[in-house]
Amino acid sequence: MFHKILVGVDGSDHALRAVRLAGELARTCHADIVIVHAYPPIPPDLGEPNLQATISERLHEANQVLERALQEVGFTPRTVETEALEGAAPDVILRVAEVRQVDLIVVGSRGLGALASLLLGSQSQEVIQRATCPVLVVR
Ligand code: ATP
Ligand code: MG
Repeated sequence: MFHKILVGVDGSDHALRAVRLAGELARTCHADIVIVHAYPPIPPDLGEPNLQATISERLHEANQVLERALQEVGFTPRTVETEALEGAAPDVILRVAEVRQVDLIVVGSRGLGALASLLLGSQSQEVIQRATCPVLVVR
């Protein structure tokens, strides 16, 4: 049914639940998976050596988030790829979804945000509003 599944991760347990479900779907549907992490933009006027240090730090953190997600996805019969891109999460997720022509986006209902009372985080809400393919929100 689905051929290419995108799952967004922010380092939260909610996102890891989304990854596990994406893995199960990929096993059932024989789908490819792309795990996407958006990291905050780096101010271009930081100046050296801060600029290089900040870039390295951001990439290191992004890799840790993606590595953790890779552990969680489990064996799948097809490819599992990762992408870390700078920008707002909905922009990054929707850009990758379009470029790679994914047919399902999976996100957690919540993320790292502090407001536990929220039913749905602002990033997943924006993804739902703007996506042109089905979106699966994992609680
Ligand atoms: P808010 O960010 O509005 O304070 P929150 O952090 O609880 O609330 P969201 O940020 O909307 O909730 O997170 C919901 C889901 O969106 C996450 O489980 C994850 O799947 C996805 N997501 C959030 N941030 C990112 C990110 N930086 N990169 C990729 N996916 C993300
Ligand atoms: Mg958030």
